[in-house]
Order: sequence, then structure tokens, then C-alpha cells
Amino acid sequence: AKDLGRNRFQFYQPEMNESVGTRLNLERRLRRALRDNEFVLQYQPQIDIATGRIVGLEALVRWQDPEAGLVMPSEFIPIAEESGLIEAIGEWVLREACRQNQAWQDAGLPPARVSVNLSARQFHRADIRQIVLSVLEQTRLAPEYLEIELTESVIMTNAEEAAEMLNQLHDIGIHLTIDDFGTGYSSLSYLKRFPVDRLKIDRSFVSDIGVSHDDETIITAIITLAHALNLQVIAEGVETTSQLDFLVAHGCNEIQGYLYSQPVDHGLIPELLSSDGIF
Ligand code: C2E
Ligand code: CA
Ligand code: CA
Ligand code: CA
Repeated sequence: AKDLGRNRFQFYQPEMNESVGTRLNLERRLRRALRDNEFVLQYQPQIDIATGRIVGLEALVRWQDPEAGLVMPSEFIPIAEESGLIEAIGEWVLREACRQNQAWQDAGLPPARVSVNLSARQFHRADIRQIVLSVLEQTRLAPEYLEIELTESVIMTNAEEAAEMLNQLHDIGIHLTIDDFGTGYSSLSYLKRFPVDRLKIDRSFVSDIGVSHDDETIITAIITLAHALNLQVIAEGVETTSQLDFLVAHGCNEIQGYLYSQPVDHGLIPELLSSDGIF
């Protein structure tokens, strides 16, 4: 393990050719983490540009390791994917995010969607629709307050099958967003056939606002395309007011990023939800 400073530990990097032993060890520890309930969620607000209010909260998983402290998803999701553990971890994330959102609503807070990231393995499970349905039933969360984020590359890897799965999920009444949009290959004809609600412009484009004219052009093209297809657009990784100004000027619907808030512990969300708009 390599100390990256702060209280974070780097256990695994895909490009680092780690020994089988190290990976098996991480896998064993992840299994234990699941059993001992060591995963936690942080939530990052998503802001509606028109009203300045929080309309969504993206649930982001962390591992509170007793020895190493807070471990970020980039350090364990790849191994969880490879080993298949992501299915159990992802189901815990889904259930916890829905439970927490319903608890906030029960406490009388203004309702917001909760967004959950679905991995490729979860998405391709034959029973994913049934899992989502039973979690909604168990947690009493109305489907309109759950959003599932799927990356463009996961969806486009097998677009025919994805269209079928997306239809099954859409029928439940939840929201669907294509995450990291613009980084992969999208067939425009499929985009029209996918029952999705929102495209999330990848941070790599947003961070180049004011830097790369080409990336600015891509952003405006994505927004125009999305609106022409009746889709909403959210931009991730918004860190500066000049990025915000550009996105507002070009009709982006929602923003998410450090400019407004980093992902925060659940305890901080009630105050954020009940505060007035930010613009
Ligand atoms: P993502 O879904 O693209 O999530 C956005 C990431 O960008 C998060 O990193 C978030 O903390 C970070 N971020 C948000 N705003 C800003 C900003 O303004 N500037 C910068 N530089 N970064 C920002 P995080 O939490 O480390 O998550 C990384 C990735 O791990 C996520 O990327 C997602 O792919 C994956 N992940 C996180 N939670 C889950 C989960 O529950 N299930 C699955 N399958 N994947 C997850
Ligand atoms: Ca996401
Ligand atoms: Ca993303
Ligand atoms: Ca991204």
C-alpha cells in the first residue's frame, strides 16, 4: 500500500501490475468490509440552474477502513468489479441511498432525487429490475425520487441489450441518466431509442471551459442535441464561476461540483436541503 498523504491510502491502481496475492488480500478485506458494514455513502448536491435549489443528491461510496481510514472508490471499485463483489456492494449502496432519502422525506425536508451509480455487472444482471423494485418497496421511496446513473461506455458496449434493460428500468418510473457523457462513443440513433431523462457532461469537458475552444464546442453541441431530444443536461465537476457562467449562458439545466459543494456526509444534507437557493 502506498501512502498518498491526507488520510487516504492507495491500495490498487489498474495500471500498477500488482501481485495476485495483493489483489486477493484486497478482495478478502472487501468481503469483510461488506460483512462488517464498513461502507459509507457521501452525497453531492445537484443544483437546478433555473431555481438555484438542490434537486438531486449523488450517492458516492467510500470505505471506512478501520486501519487505513477513508478509502476512495477508485481504489477499490476496480477490484470489486473484477471479483464480482460490486454486485453486493452496489446493492447495499442502492438500498442505503433509498432508505436515507426516504428518511429525509419523512423528516419533512424538501424532497430531492437520489442518484445511484450502477456498475456494468449490476446493469447486466437479469434480475436488476426486480432488485430495484424490491428496494423501492422495502424503503417506501417513490420511484420518481430515485435516479440511476449509467456510464456511456457501459450502455454503448452492447446497445441493443442496453435498450432492453433501460426500458425495463424506465417502466418502474425511476429517472435514468447517462454519466460521463462525451467520453465514449454514442450512436445518435440509439440515443433516441434509449428512454433516458438526462445526459451528464463529463468533467473533462467542463474543466476545459475557457481553455479549449473545441471542448466548449462539444459542450454546446451536447446541450443542443440533448434539448432537441427532450433530454435534460447536467454538468459534473463544476469548480469555478466562469465554468458556471458558460454553462448558464448555453442553457445547461443542472450543475454538480466543488463550486457548490463537495460530496458530504449524510449528516450535513438536511441543512443543505432546507437552505434557500444559491443563485
Ligand atoms: P462519477 O460517477 O463520475 O462521480 C463523480 C466523481 O467526481 C466523484 O468522485 C466526485 O467526488 C468527483 N467530483 C465531484 N465534483 C467534482 C469537482 O468539482 N471537481 C473534481 N475534481 N471532482 C469532482 P468519487 O466519489 O471519488 O467517485 C469516483 C468514481 O467512483 C465515480 O465517478 C463512480 O464512477 C465510482 N463510484 C462512486 N460510487 C460508486 C458506487 O456506489 N457504485 C459504483 N458502481 N461506482 C461508484
Ligand atoms: Ca456518477
Ligand atoms: Ca460522472
Ligand atoms: Ca466523469
